[in-house]
Order: sequence, then structure tokens, then C-alpha cells
Amino acid sequence: MRAFVITGPFQGEVLDVEPPVPGPGEVVVRVERAGVCGTDAEFFTGEMAYLHDGQARYPLRIGHEWCGVVAALGAGVSREWLGRRVTGDTMLGCQTCHRCLGGRQHLCADRFEIGIRHGRPGALAEYLPVPVFALHVLPDAVGPALGAMIEPGGNALRAVRAARLRAGDRLLILGPGTIGLLAAMFAAAEGAEVHLLGLSTAFARSLGFACHTEVPDLPFDAVIDASNAARLPALAVERVEPGGRVVYIGLAGEPSLVDTRVIALKDLRVTGVLSASGGLAGTIERYASGAVDPTPLIAATVGLDDVAGALTGTLTGTSAGERDPGQPPKIHIDPSAQTECSST
Ligand SMILES: [Zn+2]
Ligand SMILES: [Zn+2]
Repeated sequence: MRAFVITGPFQGEVLDVEPPVPGPGEVVVRVERAGVCGTDAEFFTGEMAYLHDGQARYPLRIGHEWCGVVAALGAGVSREWLGRRVTGDTMLGCQTCHRCLGGRQHLCADRFEIGIRHGRPGALAEYLPVPVFALHVLPDAVGPALGAMIEPGGNALRAVRAARLRAGDRLLILGPGTIGLLAAMFAAAEGAEVHLLGLSTAFARSLGFACHTEVPDLPFDAVIDASNAARLPALAVERVEPGGRVVYIGLAGEPSLVDTRVIALKDLRVTGVLSASGGLAGTIERYASGAVDPTPLIAATVGLDDVAGALTGTLTGTSAGERDPGQPPKIHIDPSAQTECSST
């Protein structure tokens, strides 16, 4: 089968690889659609932290935002799964340790992460092996484009839940990338007054959100940092209202320092978010009902042959890991497409 393989920094190509065979408790999914994100771009450039601490190494097969159809079953998997449209959790815990049994399998020390950690192959391929415990069934209302937006949506939904919004609360989101924009959509759907902060917010503004390049002089009940700027986590605790909530989901390339005296003196609730795991089911519900529609975030859908261009930015005329702030942030891949196509 065809798969996009990264063999080293800035070296990636579509190769013919052995198709996966489902192991016990696994299915093989025919991938309908997969998204690429900042993590994937960092794997391509070599900046991703996991490459430097041994949690990942080249050659790598990326892709953790996906949906598809169950095409083959491993031993012990019910036949009912065959033909179902699914997406799934990126995080694959061991299912037996204290964290896994306590409902925190996404933090399992021995976890694999699809397309990210310990060599587990990703979804930028025609077929993807997935353990059945990680699967979520997609209703008909969630087509391929929405299905590949469930994983980033799950991250954003968990961030919004951690912000504990009440109707009418004012929320500041730092960073108008995919996660920031999805969080804005979920929060707006819950009745919050949403403000976005970023260096360039032309696209976010086109979606109708209040956008700023400087923090406006308003009381914010909650702040979500979805940026990669090392100075913004400190700004979040400084600018949130006393008694408010601060959520950290963005990661900077260097340590981002926060004065914990501010957290104590302002009686803040501060939460970190890793992964979409607990947010997948809620995201599927919200997309299926139409409460949130992430389709405007998708700039283009292309074939596997255009993945390198998507990751380096040549498809969008920017550099690796960056994007044109006037354009939608997300590029989708249709592994069955041989050449570039434009429909989403
Ligand atoms: Zn991602
Ligand atoms: Zn475990």
C-alpha cells in the first residue's frame, strides 16, 4: 500500500510499504481522510521533542487525525465492526497499569501514540491498524471531512471543558490556530463571549470572532493558551479574573515560566490538557448535531503526493510550521486520491 514515510529532517516521500495485518484485538481501517497539524510539521522538520528524547525516531509514519472504514478484523474482534465508519483515540495505553485502570490511559507510561510515539504507524497511508478499544463509531452526519476533524476537536473540547464556562462568561483564547479556533467554536456554542488574541487574526475575524493583537482591557472569566509563544502562559494568569480558570494546551519550543504566586494570590484554577482522549465522544456529538461545524477551517484536501508540500508550507506559500493567517489552517489528505483535488 502507499504510505507517506519521513526518513529524516525534510525528507519524506510516498513509499510502497507492507499493508498492515490486524493483530489480536485490532482492526485495520481503510483511511478515508487524515489531517496534518503542527506536530506533523515538527516531525518533518526534526524539531519535535520526542525525536530528541527517544520517544520517536526516523523512519516515521505520521498521521493521528483520521477517519475511515473498518476493512479487516484481528482475532477476538466482533464481526459487527466490519464496514463501520470510525475514528479513534491517538493514545493507546497498556490497559493494565494503575493509570490505565484509573481512566487515564492517555497518560500511560508505556503508551503508543498513533503516528507519534514508539513507532506506531500513522494514518497518512491507505490502511491503518487500530486496537478496537480505541475506536469511536461515526454517525452518517459526520462525513470524511468532519471525521478527520474529531481529533483536533477533542483536544479543543477538553480545553473548553477545563475552562468551566457558564453562559455569558467572557473567554480569552491565546493563539488562533486550529485548536484555538475550534475551542472558540465550542465555547461560542455554549454561549460564551469569545475573544481571540494573535499576531495575525484575519482568518479568525472572517469567522466572526472578536480578535485582538493586544489583550483588551476587559475582565476575562477564563483564558485558554493554545499558542506556541513562551511568554503567553504568564500573560494568561496575569490577565484572567481572580477566581478564574486558566487552561494550558499550547506548547512552546522553550520553557514557558509562570509565577505561581499569582496563581495562589488570585485563587485560580489552572489545568493542563494533553490529547483528545476524553473529548472524542463529545466532539462527535457536537459535529453530528450541527452545534459546531469545523468545515470552514479546512483549506484544501490533497493526495498523499502533496503531504511534503503541506508540511513545508509550499502548498500554501508559507514556510514549515507556519501558515498564511488569512487562510484556513487545516490541510486534509485523501489517501485514495492519486493527484491533487480541491473538494473537501
Ligand atoms: Zn494533530
Ligand atoms: Zn497503562
